[in-house]
This record gives sequence, C-alpha cells and structure tokens, in this order.
Amino acid sequence: MKMKNYRRKFLKLFSLLYLSVLLLPNNLLHAKTKKIINQKLSKEQKNIMFNESTEKPFSSSLNSEKRQGFFHCANCGAKLFSSDAKFDSGTGWPSFTESLSGAFKIKIDYSLGMKRVEYHCAKCGVHHGHVFDDGPTATQKRFCSNGLCLIFKSES
Ligand SMILES: [Zn+2]
Repeated sequence: MKMKNYRRKFLKLFSLLYLSVLLLPNNLLHAKTKKIINQKLSKEQKNIMFNESTEKPFSSSLNSEKRQGFFHCANCGAKLFSSDAKFDSGTGWPSFTESLSGAFKIKIDYSLGMKRVEYHCAKCGVHHGHVFDDGPTATQKRFCSNGLCLIFKSES
C-alpha cells in the first residue's frame, strides 16, 4: 500500500516536472545555453545575438563580400557558411542557400505574429537570423543572416 503511494507521488512529481519543462518559454531555455564568448561584442551585436534583434537592411559590409572563404560566428568562431552558398537576395541582409552541416539549431519564432524559423549557432546558442523557403536553389532555403553576427575569413 505504501509503495503504491510513493509511486503515485513520484508519478505526480515527474509529470509536473515534465509539464514545467514543456511550458518553459523557449527563450528561457536558450538563455541558459547562450553566453558571451567574444568579450569584444558591440552592444548591437549583443542585441541581435541575445535578444533576437535584427540589424538594419543594407547596413552590413558583408552584403557585397564576394571572395572565397567561410563565414564564422562572431561570438564563438564556429564555421557556419561557405561563400559557395552565398547569393544576392536583394533583401539587404547577407543571404545563403545552405549552412555548413550541423552549424545551426532551429527554433520556431512567433514574435511578429507569424511563424518564422530562427536559427541559432549550434556551438554557442546565439541568434543569427531566420530561414525562409523562397531560396533560389533546389532546397529553396534562404538563410537571412545578420552580418553583425558573422566574421568573414577569406581562403587564401
Ligand atoms: Zn557561435
């Protein structure tokens, strides 16, 4: 009889725990994993990476970057995009048809009253941009990136 009570209590506790994890806002879960690695990040960079803000369109010098190389996370340095995947989307943000494999983790964002797919650096967790399904290649992906979150390193 006592055993049964313990079991019931345990199950109750367990389901409560499970529920609270489910109900926890996504942002809070992410906030735990994100941390500043690059101590030289500007206020604007931090705002995008940690508060999901967006830089002004046509403000990034990376829009016109056409050299061969790789785009790295400005916070942790992880390699995220190859210049081979870069294209001019005309949106004013550096755009890519695909990321390097495993570079990002995806999160659904409803903040503007619509469903958007956000991507976060898989290594350090910071926000980089949104991915849309209107890209020019067969995969139709368009990674719309904040240039401030990226560091370009040319291959030479
Ligand atoms: Zn990172």
